[in-house]
Amino acid sequence: MLPLCDFTSHRKKKGMYWQKDLETMTASQLEAYQLQKLKETISRAGQSPYYGALFKKKGLSATSLNAVENIGLFPMTTKEDLRGNFPYGFLAMPLDNTIRLHCSSGTTGNPTVIFHNRHDLDSWANLVARSLFAAGARPTDVFQNICGYGLFTGGLGFQYGAECLGALTIPAGAGNSKRQIQLMQNFGTTVVHAIPSYLTRLHTFFEEMGIDIARDTSLRLLVIGAEPHTEAQRQRIQELFGIKAFNSFGLSEMNGPGVAFECEHQTGLHLWEDAFLAEIVNPDSLEPVAEGEVGELVMTTLDRQAMPLIRYRTRDLTRFLPGDCPCGRTHRRIDRITGRTDDMFIVKGCNIFPMQVEKILMNFPEIGHDYLIVLETINGVDEMLIKVEVSRNWFAGELDALENLRRRIVDEVRDEVLLTPQVKLVEPGALPKQEGKAVRVQDLRKSEGA
Ligand code: ADP
Ligand code: ZN
Repeated sequence: MLPLCDFTSHRKKKGMYWQKDLETMTASQLEAYQLQKLKETISRAGQSPYYGALFKKKGLSATSLNAVENIGLFPMTTKEDLRGNFPYGFLAMPLDNTIRLHCSSGTTGNPTVIFHNRHDLDSWANLVARSLFAAGARPTDVFQNICGYGLFTGGLGFQYGAECLGALTIPAGAGNSKRQIQLMQNFGTTVVHAIPSYLTRLHTFFEEMGIDIARDTSLRLLVIGAEPHTEAQRQRIQELFGIKAFNSFGLSEMNGPGVAFECEHQTGLHLWEDAFLAEIVNPDSLEPVAEGEVGELVMTTLDRQAMPLIRYRTRDLTRFLPGDCPCGRTHRRIDRITGRTDDMFIVKGCNIFPMQVEKILMNFPEIGHDYLIVLETINGVDEMLIKVEVSRNWFAGELDALENLRRRIVDEVRDEVLLTPQVKLVEPGALPKQEGKAVRVQDLRKSEGA
């Protein structure tokens, strides 16, 4: 069998799609395709200790499936299930047939582990190549991957995906901003992948080094993802760099990047439905939400052999977008992730998502790119303190002179989240920076035992 990433033939691709047949299937073709892949997946999953025992107990098997909707007969899988059966409980084939493992970043607790065989890695690389192609990257591009390599899936995931596309791929890794810019200049980088919070920081180095992106580099396209960000933050990044930034969504439990991606029209993220079966459910009742409503994304792998996952609760909140995309791809589009069910926090009875706060902050041109929400208990009362970096372009050396700005932020955040925050302006660059995903909330209430 030819590997999926046969890039000698892909290199010659001149059409609009990476895999036209798969990307433009009609709804009924897609459904038939999904049903067949789903049956295979259920049979394979039944070989793992966890699903084997579960299916037996519930009397479920691939023969329970007459239509894709029958997936609802199967129980959902949670992050706790993965953690509780760590490390091999979900492995559906002998360990010697697997060739790599990856772990989640551990943003919300102990990391989870996913195993891959050769087929899985080829299939994943192909999905990332398809995603990059959809966003406008081509084999002639020079792709610089600015993120951590290692267990984090953004490193090797984009590396092999961009190689599969046929692009010259620079495994630049995270950090060392001046060197990143040097690499871009030395090798004529045209496409960069990085997490959004890092790109805004990287931009300050261009300024410091006196490098004009349009004049002194060949950059033409950015790929951003791996962490929640608002449309306002994307707009900022696009304005700073003067080029488009495409949203890339993925999670290690579904391989990593290459799950859903924006095409050149930026009308939401096409979720690759030949490789993943997606449902959106109410996180409390676990019932499907009404068409177009926001809920938790639940996903089943359709093309993974070593470790298939059935109805995995991603905890990510999104909705299916209505209508067709002008690009002609028929796979449904999801909206940008508005948060995770588990990053919502409650202060004085108000339910708040960090992205609600970010949305307000990013609309102030006087505000820099970083902020930190600190939750603490003061005299027995929960308080929300937002530390906000002032933009370098606005800062004249005196924070006290910005009292008017501070008050406007308090008012606007209060109107959005219905709670009066404390706001503290800090100097540009004063907040702690992470090498990986940005930490936006620090909850000191837990450590105080409150
Ligand atoms: P962890 O779940 O520990 O952060 P992963 O590295 O697997 O580990 O990260 C996947 C998660 O990152 C997703 O479930 C989602 O919450 C977030 N994420 C990934 N891409 C995006 C994106 N484009 N927009 C918003 N959130 C994203
Ligand atoms: Zn499209």
